[in-house]
Amino acid sequence: MFRIDTAFNLGKIFGIQFRLHYTWFIIFLLVAVSLSWQVFPILYPGWSGLTYWVIGIVTSLLFFASVVAHELAHSLVARFYGIPVRSITLFIFGGMAQITREATRPGTEFRMAAAGPVCSLVIGGLFALLWLFTQDAIEPIAALAFWLAQINVVLVIFNLIPGFPLDGGRVFRSLIWRFTGNYKRSTQIAVRVGQGVGYLFILAGILIVFLQPYGLSWFSGLWLAFIGWFLENAASASYRQVQWRDGLRGFSASQVMTSVYSVVPPNITVNQLVYGYPFAGGYGFFMIVDEGRLEGILTLDNIKAVPRQNWDVTQVKDIMTPIDKLNVAYPDQDALNILEQMEEKDINQMPVVSGGRVIGLITRDNLIRFLHLRSVLGR
Ligand SMILES: [Zn+2]
Repeated sequence: MFRIDTAFNLGKIFGIQFRLHYTWFIIFLLVAVSLSWQVFPILYPGWSGLTYWVIGIVTSLLFFASVVAHELAHSLVARFYGIPVRSITLFIFGGMAQITREATRPGTEFRMAAAGPVCSLVIGGLFALLWLFTQDAIEPIAALAFWLAQINVVLVIFNLIPGFPLDGGRVFRSLIWRFTGNYKRSTQIAVRVGQGVGYLFILAGILIVFLQPYGLSWFSGLWLAFIGWFLENAASASYRQVQWRDGLRGFSASQVMTSVYSVVPPNITVNQLVYGYPFAGGYGFFMIVDEGRLEGILTLDNIKAVPRQNWDVTQVKDIMTPIDKLNVAYPDQDALNILEQMEEKDINQMPVVSGGRVIGLITRDNLIRFLHLRSVLGR
């Protein structure tokens, strides 16, 4: 669905990578323009044109700073409990902290999930105070403070909807988990609610687009439907992830790897490779092996990057991804850990190497097959 990994790195906050996804610019522009052009001019007539824009842009920036603070609150609590946080990304629907593992205890999950809304509530309160002190004196500052107080409260309410993976859904899951002791079942329930909320949003959004009740614009309907679609997707995706993790727990690389892959020597040409070697297992993927040692891997993308007329003069070793730039797995390595690495680096296959020699291959496909087999056997 949504490729959040195509984002700019902006630097680190408290040691956590902070990133901007390109879709964030769309939402930032939308918020800044609607504040400067519509919201503030309608509510507070009489400012200068420049004031509307300055206050509009500063308000938008502070809004996104509030979102970052919210995500940072989740992340710092996670880190406090020893759960690593990869990054915080701002994107079209706000912020997202990439927390690499799930909490192992309901109490931890509860605190991690609640930290964000609590932080937003505090920020909202601070802006409300600022509004109180400036409302009679400096109207533009008061306007900024009022809008930010409001939006932070909206953020709290939205996030407390009890559908996974929203914060409310996580709180909800932690409570069921706490009382039933069943992590999988609690996740299932919270995900179902999350999917239900997503569908409701889509339905409500479509109704708004066509009926435009209470003067709501078709655009807000579209937006709501869009958010609903995103929530439904995220709920389903996080459930799949939970299932995957559960199924791989306790297995090592050597137990889940496949031995079906194509091995080719480094000094043949691309032509020889394409016409002379089998695409074993249906993967567009080759292990480049010289005298038993893994030298690198070659994917279809590497091959496609070479113009066809150069196929008979280009050797595979010139276009392969060499071993030192490769992620490899070790036979005893935890399968779940390998999956996490593959997700983190967005790679589809990993050679399993022992003492420099290839002994197997792990691909997402064969992990899925492995999980499928286990579920068929009811294990
Ligand atoms: Zn949150």
